[in-house]
Amino acid sequence: MYRVEQLIGGVWGAGGEGGEFVVADPADGTPVSTVPVATEAEVAKAVGAARGAAAGWAATAPADRAAALHRAADAVAAVAEDLALATTAEMGKPLPDARGGVAAGVGSLRQYAELAPVRGGRTLHGGRDAVDFMAPEPRGVVAVLTPWNDPVAVACGLLGAALVTGNVVVFKPSERTPATGWLLAKALDSALPAGVLSLLTGGAAVGAALAGQEVDVVAHVGSTATGRAIAAACARTGAKALLENGGSDPLIVDADVDPTWAAGQAAMGAFANAGQICVAVERIYVHRAVAGEMVAALVDLAGAMRVGPGQDPETELGPLVDRRHRDHVHGQVTAAVAAGARLRAGGILPDGSGAFYPPTVVTDCTDEMPLVREETFGPVAPVLVVDSFDEALTRAACSPYGLAATVLTGSMSHAQRAWRELPVGTVKVNAVFGGAPGGAAQPRRGSGQGFGYGPELLDEFTTTKVVHLAAPGGGHW
Ligand code: NAD
Repeated sequence: MYRVEQLIGGVWGAGGEGGEFVVADPADGTPVSTVPVATEAEVAKAVGAARGAAAGWAATAPADRAAALHRAADAVAAVAEDLALATTAEMGKPLPDARGGVAAGVGSLRQYAELAPVRGGRTLHGGRDAVDFMAPEPRGVVAVLTPWNDPVAVACGLLGAALVTGNVVVFKPSERTPATGWLLAKALDSALPAGVLSLLTGGAAVGAALAGQEVDVVAHVGSTATGRAIAAACARTGAKALLENGGSDPLIVDADVDPTWAAGQAAMGAFANAGQICVAVERIYVHRAVAGEMVAALVDLAGAMRVGPGQDPETELGPLVDRRHRDHVHGQVTAAVAAGARLRAGGILPDGSGAFYPPTVVTDCTDEMPLVREETFGPVAPVLVVDSFDEALTRAACSPYGLAATVLTGSMSHAQRAWRELPVGTVKVNAVFGGAPGGAAQPRRGSGQGFGYGPELLDEFTTTKVVHLAAPGGGHW
């Protein structure tokens, strides 16, 4: 059992007067972590203490900050297996996926450690006697609020980029993966000056209290509803809001593709991490010419998946994060069926303990169903048949979200139209996942704002000062 502690003002074990809660293993309901809850006063204290540490860290040479982040990455790598085990115990994903998430997190820390010191400002061309330039500076105190679905990878990106650019950070990991956040913070803190990183634990109320503080940036990866609440809080305090939120990503299957291959892509996109990925496939627009074969192959794939605990090496699909989330997923499926959709695979709550949900395929869906329009975040593949590529593009574009989209097509002109016309941050052609290192998108609409990844994240955490140095008294230096 993990006994999570907070880190406030450089002191581990501080606070927790707001009570305690227990996180249960979603595979079998056994207790995994006990977690303190921060009070509002503790949140304010953490932010005040962080503010006190900000000037010293901001004044540290960029190369020294980068060296500290490299040491922090070493410390995280040294506890990689512990982090993966904690991730699987708290949120259920198969252990190899959890290991991949930790490795990705370590990679992000190292990338930011390499990139940050070589960034610079710009020199400007003013009069000969003056010197004009633009210099990047840290923003100050950054609140980092992260989700549970890939807890190490997501947190490392935000924490690494914020810290290496000279900001101090108050980190509040998800209440569903607090021990994972605690282990990560312990490793990072071991390589950083005291007070540069703080850790608060608790649920939405603690997150809201932190977002309402006089911080300089609130960086949030999580649901759209939370992102909206954070944007409102930032409007009141003047903090910058950096939001990477939910999506309802479409997959378009064109008339000319191999339906069996398309089914494999759809299954990977909809069922990986039990569908709990921000860029999971959430709705499938398939051309009538290949719909029958593709759906049949998708149903076969769904039926063949091995569902089980994340610790079992045979498992392909772990449980959902908890039963509350399973109720949300199942509620969307049953509402769709009640409105005329057809269940072709899964969709039935299993007996037994844990929060398992079967890979589910639903056909005869409509765009208005919450299963299609909203984010489901579960292993569900809703299928909508279309009569043309035009129709697919139009319907895929009509969404409150704008995170990512995938198009499977053999037509270069359809591929070109897709990336130009879809109003999303990321377009993938002929692969549901993948991309080049450093790729970073700006989400649109309800999916958020600002770069949450890539080299551009370093810019998000810095502000720019423009400087004009003139000679004294109008003369020469
Ligand atoms: P969430 O927004 O509920 O929680 C994320 C964090 O915000 C947690 O620490 C939580 O305690 C905190 N929080 C909750 N309410 C708050 C409030 N009112 N004010 C301030 N903080 C608050 O999200 P989640 O359920 O943990 O994560 C799942 C969501 O994350 C999905 O919607 C998924 O699409 C999204 N996500 C997006 C990306 C991306 O890059 N766009 C990546 C991963 C996950």
